[in-house]
Amino acid sequence: MPAKISIIGAGNVGATSAQRIAERGYADVVLVDIVEGLPQGKALDIQQSAPVINFNTAVTGTNGSKVVIITAGLPRKPGMTRDQLLAANAEIVTGVINNIVKYSPECIILMVSNPLDAMTYLAVKASRFPRKRVVGLSGVLDSARLSTFIAGELKVSPKDISAWVLGAHGKGMVVIPRLTTVRGKPLTGLLPEETINKLVERAVQGGAEIVGLLKSGSAFYAPSAGIARMAESIIRDKKEILPCAALLDGEYGIKDSVIGVPVKLGRGGIEQIVEFELSAGEKQRLYNSAEGIKLLIKQMGLG
Ligand code: NAD
Repeated sequence: MPAKISIIGAGNVGATSAQRIAERGYADVVLVDIVEGLPQGKALDIQQSAPVINFNTAVTGTNGSKVVIITAGLPRKPGMTRDQLLAANAEIVTGVINNIVKYSPECIILMVSNPLDAMTYLAVKASRFPRKRVVGLSGVLDSARLSTFIAGELKVSPKDISAWVLGAHGKGMVVIPRLTTVRGKPLTGLLPEETINKLVERAVQGGAEIVGLLKSGSAFYAPSAGIARMAESIIRDKKEILPCAALLDGEYGIKDSVIGVPVKLGRGGIEQIVEFELSAGEKQRLYNSAEGIKLLIKQMGLG
């Protein structure tokens, strides 16, 4: 029987992720949304592309999924920060989690709704799943944005760039340029500090730049590509090491907060939290980022 992935929220991010996952044949996909007809209509539309694109996966509705992707919730509007979505999305995500626990108690949750780190924390607590079964999309997207800008600046293929964006998915993002390499060469030796800072700032503001251009809704092509990559590593047990949001329990000197760190993603979900060698200053930046998320956790009445 093919593996199944459920996606909660059939909006821009959810439906495009469904399309990518189905087309690549990773798993059958179940789209879920509260708007009547929306997930059914989009699933049918995606399914009808199968003869043209030539894929054999099914996009329908059922229960008992291996991976559940949560994109349910409001996206930001121009000028808004992700944190301003906290109250509205916490309510939506809590309701969604209760159903997941009921219908897919053994699944791995892939959180997408913003503010991402706080929602990932909420998902661990509300589901009572072990922390290895809850992971959030942050660094895969933020690193892709940074790689895009570096590739443009250096005129190299983005494929040759290995970027690591850690920390919170928002203003607490932590970019460590010496860990970002182009064919093994640290970025710090390839570009002046001032240029690196400009590229990093553009990556930190990457989501807001798109929100500002779109005027309504937020990014979904690159986010859904990130989601599909993470889902693939889990479903195909690829054990890729990717920057993802995870609940920390002492790693990097941080306890009881969620931020982006390198994790090994496989069949069991987060199979390892990889600890890079960091300087005291770099560790402090990660710590501060995690403390920022703790404030959001407190605002939700958790932690
Ligand atoms: P969207 O408005 O296009 O879609 C959200 C969908 O969720 C809507 O169709 C809505 O009807 C549905 N929904 C609301 N409550 C629901 C519920 N209880 N159950 C099921 N469905 C429900 O928004 P989008 O662009 O798809 O973004 C979705 C979320 O993902 C937002 O919170 C956005 O900020 C976030 N996001 C996160 C990242 C990331 O890197 N983590 C990237 C992009 C977007």
